[in-house]
Amino acid sequence: MKRLIYEKLKDVYGYASFKQGQQEMVESILQKKDSVAIMPTGGGKSLCYQLPALIFEGTTFVISPLISLMKDQVDTLNAMGVSSTYINSSVSVKEMNNRLKNISEQKYKLVYIAPERLDSEYFMVRLQNIHIPLIAIDEAHCISQWGHDFRPSYMNIYQLISKLPKRPVIAAFTATATDKVEADIIRNLRLQEPTITKTGYARNNLSFSVLKGVHKQDFLQNYLRDRTDESGVIYASTRKEVDQCYENLKKLGFSVEKYHAGLTEKVRKSNQDLFLFDDIKIIVATNAFGMGIDKSNVRFVIHLNLPKNIESYYQEAGRAGRDGESGECILLFSPQDIITQKYLIEQSEKDDNYKAKEYSQLQQMIDYCHTSNCLQQHIVRYFGDQTYDICHKCSNCKDDRKLTDITNDALKVISCVKRMRERFGVTLTAKVLKGSADSKVKQFKFDQLSTYGLMKEKKEKEVIQLIQLLIADGFLELTESKFPIVKLNNKSIQVLKGEEKVFQKVQIITKKEKSFNY
Ligand code: ADP
Repeated sequence: MKRLIYEKLKDVYGYASFKQGQQEMVESILQKKDSVAIMPTGGGKSLCYQLPALIFEGTTFVISPLISLMKDQVDTLNAMGVSSTYINSSVSVKEMNNRLKNISEQKYKLVYIAPERLDSEYFMVRLQNIHIPLIAIDEAHCISQWGHDFRPSYMNIYQLISKLPKRPVIAAFTATATDKVEADIIRNLRLQEPTITKTGYARNNLSFSVLKGVHKQDFLQNYLRDRTDESGVIYASTRKEVDQCYENLKKLGFSVEKYHAGLTEKVRKSNQDLFLFDDIKIIVATNAFGMGIDKSNVRFVIHLNLPKNIESYYQEAGRAGRDGESGECILLFSPQDIITQKYLIEQSEKDDNYKAKEYSQLQQMIDYCHTSNCLQQHIVRYFGDQTYDICHKCSNCKDDRKLTDITNDALKVISCVKRMRERFGVTLTAKVLKGSADSKVKQFKFDQLSTYGLMKEKKEKEVIQLIQLLIADGFLELTESKFPIVKLNNKSIQVLKGEEKVFQKVQIITKKEKSFNY
């Protein structure tokens, strides 16, 4: 079997070797075992199901929510001499019938389908009489409420499988899965003792930075002027902000286009293609852009606003450096963005449980911005990988100032939280430490606590930042709710008992960025 798969790898794809994890997945699928692959973007997931599909008799189905990627993959496969097609909402009725007929006649090795197709009885009937050895599920995190992109139609996949005359092998793929998402994938797809391949989440060619307190447009101009021959994506959270940023950069003569859901499909497609084919260098976009774009030479991804969670951030930032060359992922943090994200959660029509989950995920994203530890490590730990060391190239690793022992300040904060009986949020705690005359402080008689005014020499904003840092580095906890409450945890107790010290690097701006004028 090994020989056969290497032959296919070389003859069909022209590759000399497998990327990490690919061979294990290909072999597992060929041994007819259900399989789950958690590989980073650019890890080479497609080959893991395509190669077995070439070897198996019959037609493999690939379920994917990424319409543009489907077309790209099918075009590439057909160019490689592998007969394949796709079925999604972009296909006309006439063409759809034609393709369905071909599917019934088993004319394709691979068929890509959008998950919504599974709702159609008509479609399902067509699958009854054909041999399906394998169903591959791309972006499998969409099946989990814990994922960043839950799609209800993914819940129907199991129905499809159970209606088939013979159960195929099922292989699920995703770039981002926490333990909870992984468990949901296995449970919701009813996978049978699956082989699980994880190649680690770290993207070693990417360097991450969080910049605080910068003037965003000035930063952008300076940054882009130094890189006029590089491709990059600038993400903003609203259409309005995309429009403004695009206008600014356009006026300054940058090679730029924009992308958001408010543009017509034609304009979006045309702008996307200009970017994909290197006719323009920069695209300013909302998160509507990028699901599935496979542009290999993106050198930087800049977020002008805080994303809603780490999954989304890592996926968007991860569009840099898909070719394995270096890429920069920069997040420009401003506290105002937290308010915007909270507003978005609050005004959605989701139930309270769901909202609590979103608040908690947002908090993890905020923690990422406040931590003084390695940013890549922070991300991979979030995804459950505790083994990763440090990257040596993120803005925190490169911040070479000595760590300052802030145990004394930490003690003041932790004691204050304790005296306030762990019932209040970050701002009120900061006010008490600052010794504020705020009416709420008086109302709860916090001006009588021994911790009142312990930090009166600091600005309230600094005290807030300090508390946020303690939360980010796990010395305090926040509850999951709209108005999160600061609580103690084991680490806080250890600090109180003098068993643990707390260190801090305050301002997180790297030397390189310091040379900019902002
Ligand atoms: P993912 O879906 O995991 O993001 P892709 O399947 O799109 O990744 O693959 C990413 C890139 O890696 C593609 O350009 C693909 O052609 C390339 N690639 C995949 N497998 C190999 C391999 N074994 N050797 C070299 N390049 C590969």
